[in-house]
Amino acid sequence: MDCYETALAYTKEREQFGSPIASYQLVQAKLVEMVNEVSLSTLLAIHMGRLKDEGDLDPAKVSMFKMNNVGKARATAALARDVLGGNGILLDYRVMEHMADIEGTYSYEGTNDVNTLIVGQAITGHRAFSYRPPTNRENGRAGVSEQRSEGS
Ligand SMILES: Cc1cc2nc3c(=O)[nH]c(=O)nc-3n(C[C@H](O)[C@H](O)[C@H](O)COP(=O)(O)OP(=O)(O)OC[C@H]3O[C@@H](n4cnc5c(N)ncnc54)[C@H](O)[C@@H]3O)c2cc1C
Repeated sequence: MDCYETALAYTKEREQFGSPIASYQLVQAKLVEMVNEVSLSTLLAIHMGRLKDEGDLDPAKVSMFKMNNVGKARATAALARDVLGGNGILLDYRVMEHMADIEGTYSYEGTNDVNTLIVGQAITGHRAFSYRPPTNRENGRAGVSEQRSEGS
């Protein structure tokens, strides 16, 4: 939310080509995407809180919630950094600080990949966490190892 609010305020003040950059369509598209994703993420957080209160919050739902909201927070912070131009990488604004914080959240308490695997298992029933070597039949070499062992 702070990334969006910082970007919105900045674009109203920053002038390029004779007008505030907030008046340009490409900038507005980025601001709209930011406020849209922040709003949806907030609603999802409220929904998850209600599920928890009702005792209906299982690990797969938590994984889906975490990967969705952290992913969107990451994308929103990147958009804010973009909209601030060169100032986006300075510590004068807190956008880059938020970006660094979000990178930690992206990995801890389940990386995005592992949360994806948890949700994948919940919806398919197949556990895809660990490598399973292909059988001879699957890799198209049916019978090769048997023939070798027979011939040696
Ligand atoms: C800021 C921060 C705070 C933390 N705080 C704590 C804490 O308080 N307590 C605690 O116990 N830990 C903490 N951690 C550790 C955190 O839980 C781990 O970093 C995280 O679980 C990822 O483990 P890893 O670093 O060993 O990465 P790895 O497991 O080595 O993962 C490396 C990459 O491989 C991917 N990967 C791993 N397995 C699979 C798979 N089966 N299939 C596909 N891709 C896979 C991962 O998604 C990732 O992209 C913290 C980490 C950070 C960054």
